[in-house]
Amino acid sequence: MHEVLRGIGVSPGAVAGPVVRLAPPPPEPPTDGAVADPGAEAARAGAALAGVAEFLRARGAAAGGAAEEVLEAQAMMAEDPELRERVADLVAGGRTAARAVHEGLTSYAAALREVGGYLGERVADLEDIRCRAIALLTGARMPGIPLLRRPSVLVARDLAPADTALLDREQVLGVVTELGGPTSHTAILAKQLGIPAVVACPDAAALDDGAHVAVDGSGGEITVDPPDSVLAGIAARTAARAERPEPPGPGRTADGTPVALLVNVGTVADARAAAEAPSEGVGLFRTEVLYLGRTSAPSVGEQVEAYRAVFEAFAGRKVVIRTLDAGADKPLPFIDHAQEANPALGVRGLRVARRRPELLTDQLAAIAEAASSCAAEVWVMAPMVSTPGEAAEFAGKARAFGLPTVGAMVEVPAAALRAAQLLERCDFVSIGTNDLAQYAFAADRTTSALADLLDVWQPALLDLVATVADGGRRTGRPVGICGEAAGDPLLAPVLVGLGLTSLSMAPACLPAVRHALSVHTLDECRDMAKAAREADDAASARENVRRLASPELLAVL
Ligand code: PEP
Ligand code: MG
Repeated sequence: MHEVLRGIGVSPGAVAGPVVRLAPPPPEPPTDGAVADPGAEAARAGAALAGVAEFLRARGAAAGGAAEEVLEAQAMMAEDPELRERVADLVAGGRTAARAVHEGLTSYAAALREVGGYLGERVADLEDIRCRAIALLTGARMPGIPLLRRPSVLVARDLAPADTALLDREQVLGVVTELGGPTSHTAILAKQLGIPAVVACPDAAALDDGAHVAVDGSGGEITVDPPDSVLAGIAARTAARAERPEPPGPGRTADGTPVALLVNVGTVADARAAAEAPSEGVGLFRTEVLYLGRTSAPSVGEQVEAYRAVFEAFAGRKVVIRTLDAGADKPLPFIDHAQEANPALGVRGLRVARRRPELLTDQLAAIAEAASSCAAEVWVMAPMVSTPGEAAEFAGKARAFGLPTVGAMVEVPAAALRAAQLLERCDFVSIGTNDLAQYAFAADRTTSALADLLDVWQPALLDLVATVADGGRRTGRPVGICGEAAGDPLLAPVLVGLGLTSLSMAPACLPAVRHALSVHTLDECRDMAKAAREADDAASARENVRRLASPELLAVL
């Protein structure tokens, strides 16, 4: 019997390859190690810190772009003379190199934490350096994302969004994590990179380095030592998907109702790759992804350059750019996020402008300048809008910069209930089902134990989507969706049946969604939407819709 582990498939595609585990932090070095030659021991400690700096630079060079800058800043920290002196003093006091690194960097981190603010945010970087240097000194495996030498399946307890954004899509065949939820930003970034991924798979803890596994990123299964039949199945599914008929032209239902199919992007590289796909543009440009891990706020000029590159990639098409959505599980180091008991309910998204209004106005200035010199049709929207008043205030600010089409994301139930009033104050809304589910069900989107509540098929979530669509009908304004729900091919006809006018998703999801719409008429979509909302729970909503779905769609799901 081949062991099959189960989790939640969050990024489609099936792959097979050897496991590379993210090593855990090395154990704390003992206090009682003997030191024969303190001078040589201090030199070993210095060499380990230099080795960490070299490793970080190599990783940065391999990743390029913003990641290189982030890792260079961290490498410089490992080379900080004050830090080395602190470690050398501890060695002189009788500690081993590993113990001195542990104590020296731990106390340095505590001092930074005490200072707080910008320096406080460097603590995680320092802890990373400490673990890596101790690993070098003790021969333990280097923790964190390893430099991969061959295409592998990365297995981790969890992955931070900043680490996920650095994954090398050539070498990382797939990702499996023990924790994480279906709409955690880690899952989203993996999907964005087109890397098949399974999260919330606690049994992955038992997977050893080098084990051979097959990963099904749609079904959420990991087969250990996959038999030939599973490998053949992977090859057949990959081929069937490649051959799935893809209707040409813009997205539409079988009877010709237009539904704009758009892509979600987070970086310039994403945008350039996504521009190749036949979409009608970008429905969500997550600008904060450009700056994850950045220690200083990007200048207006720097932002203009990045936004212009994305707009140019989509010249002649629409680009919906979202202002920074920082906070909660996407903290930006250059924003002094206050200590909050519930960061997801705190000052995140548009709310950051209450404390740092210049971040928003600088960004709007940069967007306006980039848009003025490009042929893309630029729309701008704000994340985490809760009230019509907030929508009006944001629209006023954006219009003052000459941005003509301004919208609000609907991610908070209060905004969904008042969608018509939001739409009276701005030009469009886009539903972020990832957060809308989190807030409607009071279930943290990063908590794997609550994944069932975050299921996009939850009828209550569909009711909220229907309310927003109704607001769109009443005001005659467009209502799109850009949460992960839009990329589910079985749900896409339901969303169209509810009244949404555009669906925006990771580019990897486009062909399946385009096909799903092309095999159902608008009336069929409406029947599917009704059947989903009549269900009592997510599983029966899915089952009700499966019963109505066309055989052509079921054949390729
Ligand atoms: C959402 O919440 O659905 C959304 C699209 O925004 P993000 O996933 O970036 O929070
Ligand atoms: Mg969101």
